[in-house]
Amino acid sequence: MTILHYQQEDAHELKAQLLKSARDERGSYLVFDATIFHPQGGGQPSDTGIVTLGDKVIQIHHVRRQENEVRHYNADINVPLVPQQALMQLCVPTRKRHSLLHSAGHLLAHVTEDLYPYLKATKGHHFPGESYVQFEKAKGNLDLDMIADQIRRMVNEDLPVQNIKQGDRRYVKMGSYDQAPCAGTHVWSLGVLTGVKLLRQKNKKGLLKISYDVENES
Ligand SMILES: [Zn+2]
Repeated sequence: MTILHYQQEDAHELKAQLLKSARDERGSYLVFDATIFHPQGGGQPSDTGIVTLGDKVIQIHHVRRQENEVRHYNADINVPLVPQQALMQLCVPTRKRHSLLHSAGHLLAHVTEDLYPYLKATKGHHFPGESYVQFEKAKGNLDLDMIADQIRRMVNEDLPVQNIKQGDRRYVKMGSYDQAPCAGTHVWSLGVLTGVKLLRQKNKKGLLKISYDVENES
């Protein structure tokens, strides 16, 4: 079992032990006893970065969970299948961007459900350039300006964001909003989300998507 450090802390570097080097249909991959790389899932893309093993620097371009492993996909090179200590280093700007988008998506869901209590947020897709939150049971179009105003108010209040672990489950809690099941990475307080922009809404038979972006990274 790989220890998932990205769920507890905001470290950008970690020493870990290489356990396995193998290939699957996606290419060659490495498995470690611990990781700081967030694997793709829960609406969030995977982290990227490098792993240094001895004098080899290996680019990690994709990470995903498969068959109870966290597979770190790397360029097609032969990594010796010997357990050895590795230094993991995240691509920090990529992690920051993903965390901003993920937290903004959760805030958008909370605010919209508060203003329109008949709506239920059922999906978040927090990928750069294509982020949206999907709601069920929409009766018509929503007032995006009103939602954006309320988001700004919450950002000005700089509500704290907490990761909560209960047994095997993990939740994220923003201010006084109910905690939401989530395995992704987040900002630590909402004050950094000053650049949230709601782009458009699309309503298809009551399934409504609000597209959004976060424009700055202050
Ligand atoms: Zn989430």
